[in-house]
Formats: sequence, structure tokens, C-alpha cells
Amino acid sequence: MKTAIITGPGQIEIREVDVPAVGVTQVLVRTRAVGLCTLEQRFFRGTAPEGYPFQGGHEVSGEVVEIGRQASTQAQPGDVVCLALRTRCGSCYYCRRGMDNLCSGANEERAPGTAWGPAGLSEYVLAEDYQVYVPEQAGSAAVDLRKRFATLALAEPVACVVRSVQTPPLRAGDIALVQGAGIMGLLHVHLLRLRGVRVMVAEPDPERRRIAGLAGAECTFDPRETGFVDSVRDCAEGRGVNAAFFTAGGPAAIEQAAASLAKGGWLCLYGSVHPTGPIQMDPNVLHYNELVVTGTFSHTRASFQQAVALISSGLVDVGPYVSEQVDAGRVTYAFERAISADTYRIVVTYGMSL
Ligand SMILES: [Zn+2]
Ligand SMILES: [Zn+2]
Repeated sequence: MKTAIITGPGQIEIREVDVPAVGVTQVLVRTRAVGLCTLEQRFFRGTAPEGYPFQGGHEVSGEVVEIGRQASTQAQPGDVVCLALRTRCGSCYYCRRGMDNLCSGANEERAPGTAWGPAGLSEYVLAEDYQVYVPEQAGSAAVDLRKRFATLALAEPVACVVRSVQTPPLRAGDIALVQGAGIMGLLHVHLLRLRGVRVMVAEPDPERRRIAGLAGAECTFDPRETGFVDSVRDCAEGRGVNAAFFTAGGPAAIEQAAASLAKGGWLCLYGSVHPTGPIQMDPNVLHYNELVVTGTFSHTRASFQQAVALISSGLVDVGPYVSEQVDAGRVTYAFERAISADTYRIVVTYGMSL
């Protein structure tokens, strides 16, 4: 089979390798669609601290080809599935606490010079049984398979955002601020609205602000404008927001988010910061206003399950954020499009050039 390997900044090699042999608890999946997430983009841009060669592709949908004889799964050969390619050993301290997004059981030792990574950008992917999710087939039988695979590949980012929006104890009618209107910010808008939460969006780019409005943000702001924090507080009944979700920007944006909070507000760091740097917060503001500062990282079994249901039922339509579907034969072009500012998600497709 063919597999794509990022060998250095801007460099992708297609290598011919054996189709992996299926272990007893594993499932072999024929890849159909792979989303190019920020992780893969960082390797392509050359801003990833980890080493090359890297086998990217962790947002994967496809069809089951073969199932190991002791694999614990509902899936049958031929089924459409989404993959959550994250190790959850089930027995480490964090897995047992229900924090399987932070599993410490992943064996990430790697020999120098050997390709490593989730390896979804391959014609076949080998998954553990617990990594395979079978979506319900909603709607008519005459679904557009190309669209179905592309949207199901985005179950992974949706699963991360499901966790993020469920972290603060928001109530219907509450108001939240979302910083950044890239795909992650927009998914926050959709999922917060499903919780009955009113949403404001901070985003420098006017076109992205417009799209955030279409996604359901009731007001949008340019965070570079003077008086930004006052404007947010004014729009939030003068009190400030009940939660702020940081999806993009730097330390200064995080400080703005903290300043926008109502009493009892939650500051949720969904995004990481590259390069990182310190943030300043007044401990007395945290104390007297009972603020909570937290992060959320990746997805759990539970949030992935919810994401698959949200997409396959149509409750969240991620279709508009698939900016382009590119055949695997043009993977370098796909990466070039993925890192350009005018796209949300680029999806690489396998055997789908209908
Ligand atoms: Zn991702
Ligand atoms: Zn574990």
C-alpha cells in the first residue's frame, strides 16, 4: 500500500509499504477520508518540535476490511467507521480515573530516523478495536458517500470540542466568548448553541467574523480594537461572560478572555500556544470573583461517541467547513491548501474520485 510520510518541512514522500497484518484485537480499515489537522500542518510548516520523519493523519474515516478474531467491536467487514487513533490502555492511573484522553500508557518510544505517528495518510490503517466507532446511518440511503466520509473524518475535532464545551457548568441562556473563528472556534459556536448558550466571537479577520455570524454567533468583535473587553462586557449584560473559550491567539488574548469574565466565570484554554509565554492574572480577581481557569485536551471515549452521533444524525453539519477534498495522489497540494489562511479543513480522499 502507499503511505505518505513528512520527511522535513514542506517535504512529503509517498512510500510503498506492506499492508499491516491484523493482530487478534485489531481492525484493518481501508482509508476513505483524512482531515489535515493543525498537528500535521505544524510538521509540514516546520514548526513542530518533534522529529521527522512523521506519518500524519489522525482524523480518519473508512471501511472495515478485516477484524481480528478476538476484537471487541460491533463493526462488520464493509461497515463505514470513524477512528479515534489515540491510545487508551485502560489500566493506567488516568484511564482508571476516566481521564482516558490523558492516558500515560502509550508506548511512544521511537528509534531515530524511523517514521512515527498516527499514519492515517495511508491506504489502510490498523486500529485497536476500542478505536473503531460505527456511526448510525441517518437519513436516506441515497447519501453522498464522498460527503459522508469527509464529514465523519471530522469526528475527531468535534470530539475535542464536545469535551471543551462540556467542561464549564454552563446553563441555558448563559453567554460565552469564543476567541478565534477557525474551524475549532466555529465548532465551539455550533456546540455551545446546542447547549442553549449565547455566543460572541472575537476574530481579527472580517470574513471569518461573517462566517461566525452565519454559524450562530450573536455578535462578533475584532479583538485588536481598543475597548474590546468593555464591548464584550457590555454585550454580556454588563456582567461579562460566563465562560471564555480560547481557540487561537497568544498570551495577550488569554488575558483579554480573563478580563471578559463575569463572576464565577470559566476560562477554558482549548488551544495550545506556539511559541508559549507567561500570562498575567491578578490573584485577587481570581479569589474575589471565583474564577476558574482550566484547559481541555483531546477527546475521551465518551466525547468521541457523542461526536459521531452529532455528525451522523445531522445535529452538527461540518460539511461547510470541509473547504476542499483532495485525492491522495495530490497530497502535497492538499497540505499547501491546508496551511493557507482561506481554508478551514482540507480532507485527503482515498479511492473517492467519483
Ligand atoms: Zn485533529
Ligand atoms: Zn491509560
